[in-house]
Amino acid sequence: MPDPLSYRPALSRMQPYTPGEQPAPGKTVKLNTNENPYPPNPDVVKAIQDAATGPLNRYPDPVATAFRRAAADALGLPGPEWILAGNGSDEILTILVRGFVGENQKLRLPYPSYILYRTLADIQGAAWEQVAFEDGWQLPAAFGDTPDDVRLVFLPNPNSPSGTVLSATEVERLAASMTCPLVVDEAYADFADGHCIELVKKHANILVTRTLSKSYGLAGVRFGYLVAQPQVISQLGKIKDSYNCDMLSIAAATAAMSSQAWLADVVARMNATRQRMSGRLAELGFDVTPSKANFVWCTHPCGQHQAMYEYLKKNQILVRYMQFPDWGDGLRISVGTDDQIDACLMILESYLKNV
Ligand SMILES: *Cc1c(COP(=O)(O)O)cnc(C)c1O
Repeated sequence: MPDPLSYRPALSRMQPYTPGEQPAPGKTVKLNTNENPYPPNPDVVKAIQDAATGPLNRYPDPVATAFRRAAADALGLPGPEWILAGNGSDEILTILVRGFVGENQKLRLPYPSYILYRTLADIQGAAWEQVAFEDGWQLPAAFGDTPDDVRLVFLPNPNSPSGTVLSATEVERLAASMTCPLVVDEAYADFADGHCIELVKKHANILVTRTLSKSYGLAGVRFGYLVAQPQVISQLGKIKDSYNCDMLSIAAATAAMSSQAWLADVVARMNATRQRMSGRLAELGFDVTPSKANFVWCTHPCGQHQAMYEYLKKNQILVRYMQFPDWGDGLRISVGTDDQIDACLMILESYLKNV
């Protein structure tokens, strides 16, 4: 008898994506998944409370119009038709892969970068290929030379785990030589000095994704979006679930986009902490990659990164230990509050005394 549970071969073959550890709320100092250490804007909490007394027996706006208006205003875009709202930017990334990459086609990503892109290709039954960053975290011109079977290219900018940025000029140059869309994943762009939204207006094949999980402090709410030319938004809109964003999250995200002053304030505070922690890590002998995101990638000449991760964890501090085959390993430490970072640095200092 045939197996009644016979999955698509692509699914049986693939390894699942492993998200960062999410310990129960409590004593752990959480510096492992680049969340905002500060609570969200009180106006956002108020908007959720108000929405909770609204008509929850009804379906939400299927295309989150209020949010898209607020986002278009905040970003200086012509209108809501340039934006597709999603249940986290991870849903947007899924929609992009489903929209552009068929079975036996490929997506391309830089290496090392965000591992989830590979998982999305695996689910789709598509292939992926990686192009290594060069020294100094630049990409070779070959990154932009796309053969026919490469149907989508992902570029996290700022990149994770490095926190490094390619300039908009460089992104434009790479996209110009591509024969497919370039997705600039700007999950961390609010912490950097520039972004690629303006390029979307000029080039139909440049697509930008954003999230409210990091800079806006709303990882628990699940909201992200795509910025692209209107014809791209309407094609990809066919793929999403009918009601992919719920009433509470739409209310939260709309309020969040409407207070850009709050954002500027929290970003300034976190960037100051990043500056300070980078300096102190360097004093402890770490090799610190200059970051434009809300985390720092660092390695130590002693090479004991995994042991440092374990030692921090034993002391209730959770950072991300990452190991990239054929490339190397290190620690990615999220920007926390000043007190959290001081605690982390103190434990690292005590570890290094015994090295
Ligand atoms: C955190 C992160 C995201 C995911 O954001 P969500 O909106 O929470 O799904 C996307 N891309 C990169 C590079 C990230 O680090």
